[in-house]
Amino acid sequence: MRFAFLLAILAVTLPAQQRSRKAHEHGAAKINIAFESTKGAPKGVIEFEAPAESVVGFEHEAKSAADKANQAAALNTLKARFGEMVVIPGCKITPKSAKVEVEHHDAKTKGAKHEEHSEVHAEFDVQCAKPLAGTVISFGIAKVFPKIHDTDVALIAGEQQSSVEVKTGKETLRIAK
Ligand SMILES: [Zn+2]
Repeated sequence: MRFAFLLAILAVTLPAQQRSRKAHEHGAAKINIAFESTKGAPKGVIEFEAPAESVVGFEHEAKSAADKANQAAALNTLKARFGEMVVIPGCKITPKSAKVEVEHHDAKTKGAKHEEHSEVHAEFDVQCAKPLAGTVISFGIAKVFPKIHDTDVALIAGEQQSSVEVKTGKETLRIAK
């Protein structure tokens, strides 16, 4: 699939400091936005990744009914309100999938303290009504999930590649052409 290819390019073209960041840091999220083209009525995909602690509130396996309900509610909030977290004027964001994945650390290492971590992964489809040239993408991530205070956003839109670190929520990304 073409978008998978675009997202793979994003992963290798990100600035070094972003790549070297720890994969799992509570409060830190990643968003990849990919548009194959900015012309016509562009279609794109967005990937979202964050520690479950920052979205669901806990990272142990949801076993109790209460935990399962809280986890489902958090994922539903993510799906329903993602359009407030990443605002692309003129485009509609539709949730494709959202799930919690348990990270498998080296728990078998003798004497190692077992740490339980899990990540939220979500994917969204984007459909825009008009060409993207001049579009300014803004962010409202902490309004939906206040525990997320630092998000690395990478964008590939046609031939443009850019990135921004969203901390205050006032940062933007502009699609040039
Ligand atoms: Zn964790």
